[in-house]
Amino acid sequence: MPGSRLASELKPPRRLLLGPGPSNLHPRVIKALTMPLVGHLDPYFLEVMDETTELLRETFRTSNKVTFPISGTGSAGMEAALCNLIEDGDEVLVGVNGLFGERMVDIIQRYGGKCIRVEEEWGIPLSIERIEESLRESNAKLLCLVHVETSSGVVNPVKEVGDLAKKYNVLFLVDAVSSLGGCVLDVDGFGIDVCYSGTQKCLNSPPGLSPITFSEKAMEVIRERKSKVKSWYFDVSMIEKYWSGGSKSRFYHHTAPVNLIYALRESLRILLEQGLENSWKRHREVSETLIEGIEAMGLEMLVEAQRFRAPTLNAVKTPEGVDEAEVRRRLLSIHGIEVGGGLGRLAGKVWRVGLMGLNASQTNVTLLLKALEQELIRQGFNTEPREGAPKPSKG
Ligand code: PLP
Repeated sequence: MPGSRLASELKPPRRLLLGPGPSNLHPRVIKALTMPLVGHLDPYFLEVMDETTELLRETFRTSNKVTFPISGTGSAGMEAALCNLIEDGDEVLVGVNGLFGERMVDIIQRYGGKCIRVEEEWGIPLSIERIEESLRESNAKLLCLVHVETSSGVVNPVKEVGDLAKKYNVLFLVDAVSSLGGCVLDVDGFGIDVCYSGTQKCLNSPPGLSPITFSEKAMEVIRERKSKVKSWYFDVSMIEKYWSGGSKSRFYHHTAPVNLIYALRESLRILLEQGLENSWKRHREVSETLIEGIEAMGLEMLVEAQRFRAPTLNAVKTPEGVDEAEVRRRLLSIHGIEVGGGLGRLAGKVWRVGLMGLNASQTNVTLLLKALEQELIRQGFNTEPREGAPKPSKG
């Protein structure tokens, strides 16, 4: 074509991805991604699909039949979860203490739901008492919660809120995008009806799939809807016919992203080989080492109570006089390490350090602490442990 010039060969830099996601790909996942493509109805692929759903059930800790990956990133899972359950005028209670709770509110409203917000400041866990109060006063059909709020690094009390959902007989929906594989999560044990995640965080797969699971109770509500699901692409009753149709009765819905599913299958194999509990423990221990190092330099964590700090996402307050963006820019360009900045009201005020999946290692923490110390000193910040420096806090 006149005027067109060929772009040069791709040469992406190698980064250590210690931000809020994506995390680095596991070498075995890279290998899985490059395996030969087969058709989305090939008998070989149908077996891969069944194996993937089985691995997902084990990872979510559920026996839910309707369990599969949605084609799309974590937000697609969020939208799929919400649009299937909500009909015009439905009351939905949402815990909001960060950007992803806000995103849920936006999606619920777009699908005609009426949101009842139970709010907390970013970095403060949602209050069980306030959620119970709202449940008592409302007619909510559904209660929604973000497990790990990636915008602030807070862990919300999913198990306790699950008990409330049972007590008040409402459906319980949980966003596990930044927690699946890295934080204690037990879908059936916590009474969760719908749960979704993302592949690019603790699973070390590329962005592009959102594993999701629906309880039988949620599916009954969906089957008894008065109106059609407003999204065609995310209508779970149709997608289910492709994912759980048995080998002879699978219905084409959309062309499955075959190689991404290979990658997910491999990442789940890796996680389950390690053992979920071992993985949760490793994430907790590595995060504790990071926090010790951070506090020893005189820095503070955004989330004050230790037991509500997410091991997968560690938000560190930027000290006064330090240029948040400049530190991040140099960590990336000089040290090859990506960390995240603050979103929304926390923009310019925090660094967000993700320790997810294979990236949750003591070696990575040492690398980051060294690089961060160097950059802080460069900006004139005194990183020597000093009197009055925050002591490791108790939750
Ligand atoms: N929910 C949470 C808690 C997240 O952290 C994210 C992304 O970071 C999302 C949802 C949306 O996921 P995605 O960016 O993959 O669409």
